[in-house]
Amino acid sequence: MRDDAPNSWESRADAFSLYGFTDLPSVHRRGAVVLTHGTGPYVYDVHGRAYLDANSGLWNMVAGFDHPGLIEAAKAQYDRFPGYHAFFGRMSDQTVMLSEKLVEVSPFDRGRVFYTNSGSEANDTMVKILWFLGAAEGHPERRKIITRVNSYHGVTAVSASMTGKPYNSLFGLPLPGFIHVGCPHYWRFGQEGESEAAFTQRLARELEATIIKEGPETIAGFFAEPVMGAGGVIPPSEGYFQAIQPVLKRYGIPLIADEVICGFGRTGNTWGCQTYDFVPDAIISSKNITAGFFPMGAVILGAELSDRVQAAAEAVEEFPHGFTASGHPVGCAIALKAIDVVMNEGLAENVKRLTPKFEAGLAHLAEHPNIGEWRGKGLMGALEAVKDKATKTPFPGDLSVSERIANTCTDHGLICRPLGQSIVLCPPFIMTEAQMDEMFDKLGAALKQVF
Ligand code: PLP
Repeated sequence: MRDDAPNSWESRADAFSLYGFTDLPSVHRRGAVVLTHGTGPYVYDVHGRAYLDANSGLWNMVAGFDHPGLIEAAKAQYDRFPGYHAFFGRMSDQTVMLSEKLVEVSPFDRGRVFYTNSGSEANDTMVKILWFLGAAEGHPERRKIITRVNSYHGVTAVSASMTGKPYNSLFGLPLPGFIHVGCPHYWRFGQEGESEAAFTQRLARELEATIIKEGPETIAGFFAEPVMGAGGVIPPSEGYFQAIQPVLKRYGIPLIADEVICGFGRTGNTWGCQTYDFVPDAIISSKNITAGFFPMGAVILGAELSDRVQAAAEAVEEFPHGFTASGHPVGCAIALKAIDVVMNEGLAENVKRLTPKFEAGLAHLAEHPNIGEWRGKGLMGALEAVKDKATKTPFPGDLSVSERIANTCTDHGLICRPLGQSIVLCPPFIMTEAQMDEMFDKLGAALKQVF
């Protein structure tokens, strides 16, 4: 609870912060949780209170908050060469090694990598790559981008336009030319009597109808998260990617997998597209790429797009795009270590090992009369609150119930995330079974208290 003294951390946070993505009535009432440090999956606030972070920071601190190998990799690179040269024909040795590694672990035989500082910038960059390609290949009209309702792709003007969330209208977004098609959430959007397979086919038909209506020659690309994250953890309906990819192929529209959350192990495989058995044309990566120890994003182009973009750049002798800190050597050194830690130090196996327990815990809590559905894949999951389970009627107000549950969890020393009417859990990959029990016990207690 907040300390109201004018010089308290809470008052100072309130006075000087423009809080992003924060329920302002809650933070004013309760005070910001100001953190000082973390160990394993726990973080500690200025009052010495411990919180089990079932949110992994923001889906990304998969190796915990004090992984010695990651800290050492950062320190060693700061000692060796903290500065960077990103462009003009210069780059660090770490950047070369990371690009090689990313292509090696990608589903592509060959490819090229472009670095950014965030997932939003990586999506933005991919859109610019597609626009660059259209112009270079004599199709300057190929500019429209298709994404899905409820998707999340970031906050820059372009990536926010891709994001299918209603709050974007507060910014006058989306920009023209950003089109949102149906969300593959069967439980919520399936029609009375419609099977899941029929629902998927309907979405594929609707996608094709949209492409035809907009004009196939005007569409630059289709972006999709393998599992929608900030939409409330929505795994695709049965056969979804197998149904839509042929539609996209028919019109020559690249399929870009936004793997910012799913990438590097979250769904039980290195990539979400592997979990759902499709090969995209490019991958957008961020978050887990450095296990949250450095801000970094990457566009990984598959062989065909890579060749076409490279040819387009050669034709004008430059790809005129980049960020000052693109491919920062400290970030690249950390990413190389993070990939190694996740893939070779048992973290990926731990995701697989813990998934049945995680699913069982979600399913158990979903027996509550006010939980309509549990959803999950690997170590990402959600419980959706409903006023009436039989009719799936939501509670009034977009966030009120989930916000109350999350606030109560915070009181119990558990961080989890309210998203729409859902409570989202995405534990770090280092979580133990005992910590998972603690997570579900605390969430269960919060549910009892709220309802
Ligand atoms: N894409 C997805 C799927 C995300 O979940 C996010 C962030 O949560 C982004 C893009 C944006 O990444 P960032 O917040 O690093 O800009």
